[in-house]
Order: sequence, then C-alpha cells, then structure tokens
Amino acid sequence: MTNAIQGEKKVEIPKDVLGRPIKDLSKDNWWGLARIEIQWHPHIDYEKCIGCGLCFLTCKGRVVYDWDFRNMRPIVVRPYNCMVGCSTCANLCPVNAISFPSIEELRKYRNKARAVAKARKKLIELRNIKKGDDIG
Ligand code: SF4
Ligand code: SF4
Repeated sequence: MTNAIQGEKKVEIPKDVLGRPIKDLSKDNWWGLARIEIQWHPHIDYEKCIGCGLCFLTCKGRVVYDWDFRNMRPIVVRPYNCMVGCSTCANLCPVNAISFPSIEELRKYRNKARAVAKARKKLIELRNIKKGDDIG
C-alpha cells in the first residue's frame, strides 16, 4: 500500500506484487454502457498454459491478472479492468491459452453503444474547440 493525498484525505493506493497500482475500473462506462455488462475479458485454458508469465507481466496499466506463485499460473482477478477490444495478452501467449469473445460479439457491443457515432461526434467537438483556441 502507498499513501496519496486527495484534498485533505489520505488515500491508500493498493499495489500488486510488482508494485503496480491497482485500480478498479469495473464501475466505468464504455461509450455509455456499464463496463460490467460487457463480457470482454481474457479466459485462460489451464490445460494449455505453460506459466510463462507474459500475460501477467504485460498487462501493466490495467492489472487484470494476478499471479499464483504456488501453481505458477496467471489468474484473471479484475476482468472488468480489461480494455474493451484489447487482446494483447492473447496475441502474445506462446501457446494460445488465452481467449476472448469473438470480434462479432465485440461489434455487437460497439453497435449497442453507438460508439462509432459518439467517437465521430467527440472528434468534431474537439475540432471546434481547437478552432476556437486557434482564433483566440
Ligand atoms: S487484453 Fe489487454 S487490457 Fe485486457 S487483460 Fe490482456 S493485455 Fe490486459
Ligand atoms: S502468456 Fe499464456 S502461457 Fe504464458 S502465463 Fe499467460 S496464459 Fe500462460
């Protein structure tokens, strides 16, 4: 644990075994959809996993994994910290032990959230702000 000052209040920031700050992103929204309604996170096939640790060590910012030192295997402990659409750990796994829902499933969430239209709108808003800044 480390201390941080938030206003006058001391806040404990939990850290994992590597000293990486642990955030809980499960209450976040993804383009207006509650993150916990989106089933996008890694699943590990322990029959295939060889315990190399690359997934655990690679997912630094979101700390989705913990490491089971007894069995030398990763554990998905914060599934909703996983970035929607990311599959880096699965791509890096040497034995294809990590899986995600299909791209079709992902696109259903994208469409349900109207993420494309919202992204476009956001960029137009930012462009207008930038134009205002340039004039000012
Ligand atoms: S897909 Fe990306 S964010 Fe999700 S667990 Fe793997 S590396 Fe972390
Ligand atoms: S990258 Fe694959 S083989 Fe390595 S620990 Fe993770 S799941 Fe297991």
